[in-house]
Amino acid sequence: MHVRAAVRPAGPSRPCEDFAAALSTGDGGALVVLDGVTPPVGGDGCSHGVPWFVNRLGGALLEATARRPEVPLTECLARAITRVAAAHRATCDLSHPRTPQATVVLARWSERTVEHLVLCDSVLLIRDPEGGVRPVHDARLETCRARARERVAAERVAFLEGLRNAPDGFPTAAADPTVADRALAGTTSRKRVSALAALTDGATRWTDTFALGDWTALFDLLLTGGPERLLEEVRGAEATDPTCRAFPRGKVSDDAAAVLVAP
Ligand SMILES: [Zn+2]
Repeated sequence: MHVRAAVRPAGPSRPCEDFAAALSTGDGGALVVLDGVTPPVGGDGCSHGVPWFVNRLGGALLEATARRPEVPLTECLARAITRVAAAHRATCDLSHPRTPQATVVLARWSERTVEHLVLCDSVLLIRDPEGGVRPVHDARLETCRARARERVAAERVAFLEGLRNAPDGFPTAAADPTVADRALAGTTSRKRVSALAALTDGATRWTDTFALGDWTALFDLLLTGGPERLLEEVRGAEATDPTCRAFPRGKVSDDAAAVLVAP
């Protein structure tokens, strides 16, 4: 399997909060894709910043998943969160509800299996040998947004924030390792997997915001043009709608990351 990856910041004015990395070791390997949650204006209790957090967490995750194949991905996530929390517990308020946090996609493949783990709104696509594409997508944030839309406008932001890492809300990888038990995790026979792709929501816009094609079409684009081409097409679509009216979205452009694992 060969790995191709692309990461693009939303623009030149802010550091990128997406992270993508992968290791290929002959017939096996692992990938990590994270999307750091942009901190609020009022601060997040951390003096390091979200880019520091995602780079630390991403590095710890890649090491844990690639070097310890006997450790389940949920345990890899719990260990990596614990390690990063320990690196700034003495200087930062990790109980802050907006302590640096991220969405997570992990995948690890061997000759026999493909393991996956997904948390929050980044997506893993699993392509089967017949060309079918199965998205692994954690819908809890989407469900919470729908619940927020039922409130009066003035209450929506605070209501959604109250659901962040709440028991009935949407989990993200922050400073609490027990969140790993709430991730979507599973294993697929390697025989049923021809290729994999991991995408942050800045890249899944191609399908879920701009409707340029379904997951199968997106995967075909990755296979023919690579992750760079996908991100270029997203930026092109964003440029056609600079006011976000035709295609409603929170930011004109978002950090975007895409990793393709294919023969
Ligand atoms: Zn910190």
